Amino acid sequence: MFAGHFAVAAAVKAKSPEVPLWSMMVSTQLLDILFVPLLLAGVEAIEPVGEGYGQHFIRADYSHALVTAVVVAAVVALLAGRAWGKRSAYILGALTFSHWLLDLLVHRADMPILPGNLGQLPLLGLGLWQSPALSMAVEGGLAVLGIILYVRSTLVRADSPKARGRALVASAVTGTLVALSLVTDVLGIGA
Ligand SMILES: [Zn+2]
Repeated sequence: MFAGHFAVAAAVKAKSPEVPLWSMMVSTQLLDILFVPLLLAGVEAIEPVGEGYGQHFIRADYSHALVTAVVVAAVVALLAGRAWGKRSAYILGALTFSHWLLDLLVHRADMPILPGNLGQLPLLGLGLWQSPALSMAVEGGLAVLGIILYVRSTLVRADSPKARGRALVASAVTGTLVALSLVTDVLGIGA
């Protein structure tokens, strides 16, 4: 789901030019960024249930617990507020939490409410990944929409040939990033 998360960042960037794009990209992927060291340490795991796109059961009991997502989003909002003001705090906090919501849509029921699946509460996940074609269409659609919104807004704001050149470079970089992340998702690497 790399592409879906990046696409959300690109789409929001279109409406919030004052917040740095990198901070949005990091915010939307933060839970997966936390997942990587936990995965390497063997605390969390990916269990394949088939081949390719979305065919895995993810045991991310700490990085992808609902309460973790809320706490991480609050910390991001606090830091963003100090760095770039109140509006950025809301935007980056919401973007951080959007990762959990988007994952909820695609994950099989493997996302706990409390960190470490404390209390053995029901695991959450709507399981769109069980239909690779449908979830690929949703993610591909998000990617295209995110890129279009981003490119359009950066070009509209460019008021000189030089600014237009910069906007085109930024659009190309962002578009490539989203497209590459879509490839990694389709290959079945995206968590
Ligand atoms: Zn995730």
